[in-house]
Amino acid sequence: METHVIGFPRIGARRELKKAVEAYWKGAADRSSLEDTGKRLMEYAWKTQKEAGLSLVTVGDFSYYDHILDMALALSLIPSRFRKEDYPHDLDLSFALARGDRERNIPALDMTKWFDTNYHYIVPELEDSSSIRLAEHTRIEEQVHLARSLGYRVKATLPGPLTFLSLARETGERPRWSFADEVGKAYATLLSRLAPHCEWIQMEEPILATDLSSPQKQAWASIYAQLSDHTERILVACYFGPVGENIELLLSSGVRGIHLDLTREGVEVLSRIPEDRVVSLGVIDGRNVWRTDLEAAARIVEPEVARRGEDKTMLSSSCSLLHVPIDLELETTLPDYIKEWLAFAVQKCRELSLLARHLTNGETGPEWESARKAAEARRRHPEVMIPRVRERVASVTGAQLARSLPFADRKALQQEKLGLPLFPTTTIGSFPQTPEIRKVRARFKRGEISREEYETYMEGEIERVIREQEALGLDVLVHGEPERNDMVEYFAELLPGYCTTTNGWVQSYGTRCVKPPIIYGDVHRSEPMTIRWITYAQSLTSRPVKGMLTGPVTMLKWSFVRDDIPARDVAFQIALALRDEVADLEAQGITVIQIDEPAIREGLPLRRTQWEEYLTWATDAFRLASSGAAPGTQIHTHMCYSDFEDIIEWIARLDADVISIEASRSDMQLLEAFHRFEYPNDIGPGVYDVHSPRIPGIEEMYRLLKKALEVIAPGQLWVNPDCGLKTRAWEEVRPSLTNMVEAARRLRKEY
Ligand code: GLN
Ligand code: ZN
Repeated sequence: METHVIGFPRIGARRELKKAVEAYWKGAADRSSLEDTGKRLMEYAWKTQKEAGLSLVTVGDFSYYDHILDMALALSLIPSRFRKEDYPHDLDLSFALARGDRERNIPALDMTKWFDTNYHYIVPELEDSSSIRLAEHTRIEEQVHLARSLGYRVKATLPGPLTFLSLARETGERPRWSFADEVGKAYATLLSRLAPHCEWIQMEEPILATDLSSPQKQAWASIYAQLSDHTERILVACYFGPVGENIELLLSSGVRGIHLDLTREGVEVLSRIPEDRVVSLGVIDGRNVWRTDLEAAARIVEPEVARRGEDKTMLSSSCSLLHVPIDLELETTLPDYIKEWLAFAVQKCRELSLLARHLTNGETGPEWESARKAAEARRRHPEVMIPRVRERVASVTGAQLARSLPFADRKALQQEKLGLPLFPTTTIGSFPQTPEIRKVRARFKRGEISREEYETYMEGEIERVIREQEALGLDVLVHGEPERNDMVEYFAELLPGYCTTTNGWVQSYGTRCVKPPIIYGDVHRSEPMTIRWITYAQSLTSRPVKGMLTGPVTMLKWSFVRDDIPARDVAFQIALALRDEVADLEAQGITVIQIDEPAIREGLPLRRTQWEEYLTWATDAFRLASSGAAPGTQIHTHMCYSDFEDIIEWIARLDADVISIEASRSDMQLLEAFHRFEYPNDIGPGVYDVHSPRIPGIEEMYRLLKKALEVIAPGQLWVNPDCGLKTRAWEEVRPSLTNMVEAARRLRKEY
């Protein structure tokens, strides 16, 4: 039985790729040293797969920046604002495409989330003048030759043509599907070049886990028809969700190999696949960090292996292991009992090969036994199942999900309390995180300074931020979040049920990596989390200071979540912890509380039919966290986007008194959705683009506000930046906010 993974992480167990690429960008290392690191990382990945006992190594998953970008280059899809000749080497061209070319002032390609993951890919551009043809040299071929020269049995992997075309952006008049023919031809040429060196060629087609339109289906048929010479060698991989009715389409292409994600799809679908096809069973979860319950996994796949035969079944990870950290062995601070429950990429490869040995010769060695014991121990552990927490979630009532008064009444009470002017000004939470702030936090974490020194420093910083805001004339202040490294990690470190890793890095995009916390047990609050800082900030000023919390859905979506209870229950546990924090803040005299939820939209399931279920519990969780607040307490929320067209009724359902959103770059276009829906509560559409160092002028922000007033009422409008200011410098923030406050003042004169 063949065993393989869909892909392996490429950043290196110690983030070697990040370091090497950034050194190259800085000019501290040359191309050949960067390429040496690249080769070493590929060899490490292949060796790890082989030593774990996998029968195939996956080749082509390595990239210096992004594999979708590499595919665009392989297809000669280079936007016309970039000219290939301007760059000494393909690598430089690809970095310029990904990051923009500052010298020549050419903007980068866009970047966006890869399906429902936190990985970001570079969005290829289809221009009217684009012509797609296979490049003479491609990275994938180079990588395959390297692996072959080292003696590996190779499965090459490519972004599937339909997925690639579906994710690209049309920049002109020409529709994407008109490129299908050229794409098919280019892939056909690539496949004929690769085929002699590979056992399999994997086409990653997660787009099959989404609802396909009819042009998409036609494009599939026409592209795969061109690949018919290679069907014997092609393995199409569908993952991130059930293939559902798209299985017919997949089968009609005649490809011999079909990979399905059995962590997100039932086995019933397998009976629809004819017996002459080879099926790759994705049973080891590539999206999460839990050690596999091998006995349960064996029960799932055994009947299929028996029916189809070992020569026609493969065992695999559900999707690429790109989404999990590399090696659990490098974790030195996790408690041993939790470590026992986890498996990172290296461990997942071993699980796969053990599972295969078990299925072929019944092997049940000590590893098998220890996996069984670990699964058992996890189920019973007192931190995993806390009756008190479960009961509290089970007894949540409808009344706890709603504020005690409707918005209009709350607004009157809040106005009385806060006495804010028309067009109140505020910011989203963080102020510049200077290198010094970061250093103090890191030194405290390492135990190099005392708690007292740390707190004194942070108080000094908070005071500075309060005085700055008073001088700027802002109406609702924030404490600036200097104590937070990250909006999720900060709370994860304080909430029992969460743990954090020291080396659990996962690629987010390019050289940026994140270390998502892990929710392993029942989450509850053991002590107040923000009171100390917020009350200190409030004690310094007579203006209202916002309590600042991260919402339950974001706390969940930006973490690895336990797989033994429904996500909804985890979200409710977190929501209840936040509800207690809200109550404490209120009791300390805090009258404005912001609960950030930037992750609600990206959590949308890939299939429309599942939206309602998700949005129901996601919005309920927010309501559970926020609705305990007295009607006179003003609840804010914040989201880092404003494309609410298709979920506006759900945003309204959050019933936040004020929502701040990103809007400056879209020229307020996106407020239309609020207008059409007659959204009743207050809105703060961002007028200051915090992603750019540019300082927006008074006139510019005033104009944006006027534009907003074309669709929303004066009494509804707040004035704020697009997002937090933590990545900006004070020299940019000060003049920008001065202008913003001035724009609001100018507007007030007219009303
Ligand atoms: N309150 C957070 C900040 O200001 C919000 C960050 C976010 O929306 N991603 O940094
Ligand atoms: Zn934001």
